[in-house]
Amino acid sequence: MAVSAGVNGQVEAVVDLDAIAHNVGVLRAHAGDAAVMVVVKADGYNHGAVEVARTALAAGAAELGVTTVAEAVALRAAGIEAPILCWLNICDADYAAAVAADIEIGISSAEQLDTVAAAARGLGEQAVVSLKVDTGLNRNGIEQGVYPVVLAALRKLVDEGVVRFRAIFSHLAHADEPYHPTIDLQRDRFLDAIAAAKEYGLEPELVHLANSAATLTRPDLAFDMVRPGIAVYGLTPVPDIGEFELRPAMTFQAEVALVKQVPKGEGVSYGHEWIAPADTTAALIPAGYADGVFRTLGGRMQVWVGGRNHPNRGRVCMDQLVVDLGDNAEGVAEGDTAILFGPGSHGEPRAQDWADLLGTIHYEVVCAPRGRVHRRYRGGTR
Ligand SMILES: *Cc1c(COP(=O)(O)O)cnc(C)c1O
Repeated sequence: MAVSAGVNGQVEAVVDLDAIAHNVGVLRAHAGDAAVMVVVKADGYNHGAVEVARTALAAGAAELGVTTVAEAVALRAAGIEAPILCWLNICDADYAAAVAADIEIGISSAEQLDTVAAAARGLGEQAVVSLKVDTGLNRNGIEQGVYPVVLAALRKLVDEGVVRFRAIFSHLAHADEPYHPTIDLQRDRFLDAIAAAKEYGLEPELVHLANSAATLTRPDLAFDMVRPGIAVYGLTPVPDIGEFELRPAMTFQAEVALVKQVPKGEGVSYGHEWIAPADTTAALIPAGYADGVFRTLGGRMQVWVGGRNHPNRGRVCMDQLVVDLGDNAEGVAEGDTAILFGPGSHGEPRAQDWADLLGTIHYEVVCAPRGRVHRRYRGGTR
C-alpha cells in the first residue's frame, strides 16, 4: 500500500492516529501496573507500523512487538529507540542484523538459540533473548519436551556473556473466551515454565502472556507486561462482550467516480446478477477486489455515501463496484467520498460488519486494503 502524506488517492485507508493514542490509553488503564507492549506486526495490522509505533509510544506504550527480524530492523531504521521484540524467526533469519540493532529475539528452539549465539559471537556483541514457551497453543514457542535443553544452553550462554536473558512469554489459544478452561491451564504451565527457568538460576527481567482479549477481560493475567495488538487499532477482540470504548482507527474509502442512470430492466456488473427493478441512479465506486474489497461481498454489503448507507448491486469487480442510490440521486455527486468501512460514527459499515458477512474476523478485514490503496494519516503528533 502506498503512503502519501497529504495527497488524496482515489481509494484510501485513512488511519486516525488520535484513535490509536486513545486506544493505548484504554489499554494502559486495563493493564494496571503492567507495562504495555504494542504489537505492530504485519505493518501495524496494515495501519502503518512506524506511525502507529510512534503514536503508541508517545501515548505511553513501553515496548513494541513484531513477528520478524526484518520488521524489527525496519522500526529501528525509522529511528525508534524503544525495546522491540520479534518472535517468529526462521533458522536463517538475519540474527546479526537483529543483534546489531539491539532487537530482542524470541526463541522457540535450541537450534534458534545456537544460531543467535553464533551471530552474537560473530559480531562481538551481546544478543538479547527471550524464551517463547508453548503452553498449549501448539504453534510457535518452545515445546515442553525440549525446554530443559534450551534452559541448559541458555544458562551456559548467559555465563559466557554471549546473551542477555530478558523475558519469558507465551501466547493464549482461547483468550477471546475469557472463561475458557484452557486459559487457566496455560497460566499454570506458564508459571511452571518460569519456575523451571529459576531452577537454572535464570531469572527473567519480566514475564508476559496477555494479548488484547486477555488485557481487557483477564486483569489477573497482566503479569509485568501486556501485548495487545488488535485493540490498539480500535477493534474489540471480544465483540460479544463489549467495545471497551475503543475507537476503530481505519476508514476505507473511495471517491465516487461516476453517477449514472440505470433504466428498469438493465443488469448491473458482470453476469448481471442484479437487474434494476425500476429506473434508478447508481454511483460507481473505483474500488474492487484488487484493492481489498472481498468479491464475496458483492450484492451483500452497504456503502456509506450521500449521508446514508446504500446497497452494493451486482458483482464486485477487480477495480470497481456499483452502489444503488435509489431516491438519493440528488444527494451524491462525482468526487464525493464513499465509505466502505469506518469507525461507524456516522452509521457507516464497520470492519466487524464485513467480518460478519464474510464469516471471518475483523483482523482479516483491516489487513485487506492493499495495492493501489493510499494510506493517509489523520491526527497524531508525528
Ligand atoms: C499477534 C500477537 C499478539 C497480539 O494479539 P491480538 O489478539 O491482536 O491482541 C500478542 N502476542 C503474540 C505472540 C502475537 O502473535
